[in-house]
Amino acid sequence: MARIETPRRVRGTQDIFGDEQRRFARVVAAFEHVRRLYCFQQVQVPVFEATNVFARSMGETSDVVSKEMYTFPDRGDELLTLRPEFTAGICRAYITEGWQQYAPLKLTTHGPLFRYERPQKGRYRQFHQIDAEIIGAAEPQADVELLTMADQLLKELGIAEGVTLQLNTLGDAETREAWRAALVAHFEAHRGELSEDSLTRLEKNPMRILDSKDPRDRPIADSAPDIDAYLTDEARAFFEAVASGLDAAGVAWTRNARLVRGLDYYRHTAFEFVTDRLGAQGTVLAGGRYDGLIGNLGGPDTPGVGWAAGIERLGMLLEAPEFEAPSVVIVVEDDDLLTQGQRILAELRRRGLATEIVASGSVKKRFDKAIKLNATAALAINANLIEDGECAKLRLRNTRSGWVLGGEQQLAIAEAIFELFDVNGQKQDLAYGREIGLRLKIA
Ligand code: ATP
Ligand code: MG
Repeated sequence: MARIETPRRVRGTQDIFGDEQRRFARVVAAFEHVRRLYCFQQVQVPVFEATNVFARSMGETSDVVSKEMYTFPDRGDELLTLRPEFTAGICRAYITEGWQQYAPLKLTTHGPLFRYERPQKGRYRQFHQIDAEIIGAAEPQADVELLTMADQLLKELGIAEGVTLQLNTLGDAETREAWRAALVAHFEAHRGELSEDSLTRLEKNPMRILDSKDPRDRPIADSAPDIDAYLTDEARAFFEAVASGLDAAGVAWTRNARLVRGLDYYRHTAFEFVTDRLGAQGTVLAGGRYDGLIGNLGGPDTPGVGWAAGIERLGMLLEAPEFEAPSVVIVVEDDDLLTQGQRILAELRRRGLATEIVASGSVKKRFDKAIKLNATAALAINANLIEDGECAKLRLRNTRSGWVLGGEQQLAIAEAIFELFDVNGQKQDLAYGREIGLRLKIA
């Protein structure tokens, strides 16, 4: 028989499980928590769009559009692209779905994105982002709100230490023109030292050279003129309002006067949260103001500002999240009592307690397994007890090694279990922690 070739995981994709999945879930849960605190609405947009949604909004010369997109004709010969970012799709929806009526709109989303990149630690071809946008608000207050939200997210995740908010302004159109001209003059003077990619950028989008990761470009980029000398009064006032808003909200930041964003439509505020804990993939969260984007897509001139963060990169910074232990583990000591166990299992779960059951292997193995599950309470169901007119024995624990009483969490679990059994008289003992095991009778 011909050997069947085992299918492989596609390069740059991930199967996320175990510790990685717990990190992933932790990031998404913290984001959801912060979303509520900042009163953003959730939105879902398609995983694929007509290619020109990204080509027109991100710019043909951007790295993403020119070399990283997954683009293919579908069976109807429509040219489609798997989304490489969220902003373009959200702005497309804002225009096509008539969301202007809700402006200003504060939105969040999260999910998979696709970029054909060279896979390495923290860089994948299918990766995941959390994303926050405010569309239809031109005031610097919107920028401050988004940055404060990002800062709070990092604090809630316990990873703010060692992550720095680098802030810059790209000014308004007039500022950008003047700065761009100064950059071109500087790069022209160093033409001979630039990488091939940057020579192309010099023709098409010279500001991108500042963003280059090529070591040949770095010294030239780092000695380039910064934007300050070219800021119009209006652009300067906008930046100062963002800066003072951040100070008022207690958000620490540093100025990086040469920070640019890789995409064409950014104006005014541009920022990155950067760490040195992830090697070359040090940007964990990035964004800025994109007042030109919706106009570029053919919509009405609409201001916007937003950020996105790689879920995997944030996850890598976390302390390893603990395995989610059940509240209760039921140990069925005799196989004859399985249905009793199942009945109690279903009932406890209906009452909102995370419950697991152990009902196979030797009795010793069952208890070993129960201990490994690290549940807060164990409920042992045993035939001898039933003969005594009882049903189960409850043990409460708060250490790995033993079953002990006490603690609020245990009392709450005990309350729910007591409701199931007739043990009103024993509650008092439990509260004072006098009993270690309780015999329970079904009510
Ligand atoms: P980089 O300079 O690292 O390529 P970028 O400018 O392309 O980043 P953005 O488009 O701003 O990144 O995306 C925002 C965030 O999404 C990044 O800061 C990073 O956390 C994450 N991210 C971007 N590309 C990838 C990828 N290929 N794999 C994993 N995470 C990514
Ligand atoms: Mg990139």
